Amino acid sequence: MSSISDNKVVQFFYTLTEADGTLSESNRGEEPMAYLHGHGGMIPAIETALEGKAAGDSLELTLSPDQAYGERQEGQQLRVPMKHLQGLPKGSRAWKPGMIAVVQTEQGMRQVTVVKPGLKMVTVDTNHPLAGKTLNYSIEVVSVRDATDEEIAHGHAHGVGGHHH
Ligand code: ZN
Repeated sequence: MSSISDNKVVQFFYTLTEADGTLSESNRGEEPMAYLHGHGGMIPAIETALEGKAAGDSLELTLSPDQAYGERQEGQQLRVPMKHLQGLPKGSRAWKPGMIAVVQTEQGMRQVTVVKPGLKMVTVDTNHPLAGKTLNYSIEVVSVRDATDEEIAHGHAHGVGGHHH
């Protein structure tokens, strides 16, 4: 059985809860997430914790903000045209404070939190929604396999849970 090391493709399920127990994200019951180990595609503290694990292993880890998405920065609010917000949840008709939206920026797509929606303009906070939070990860390794030459050249995993070209 292969264990996790550089140039392995790892599939895993995870449940992410905030320190107060709020469920933030989970992919259980959906497709596992896949990443190429050792290529910086995953939060470093998670890669370190997964090193040496094998399919079927479970682990729990707690990440401080500086190990996860960083501290919240002040002064990260900006006003953008409402029409630039993408990702309105299904069943919602309007943006409300606290919702997570996606905005195209010069640095690519990024997640923002809606602060104050207006008629045409909306105030958003560009801190990562999980910035400043201590996060608990419950991880279950689904599979570990050797990466293909193509995956190593691309620096990411292909197939289920990975990149699709
Ligand atoms: Zn690729």
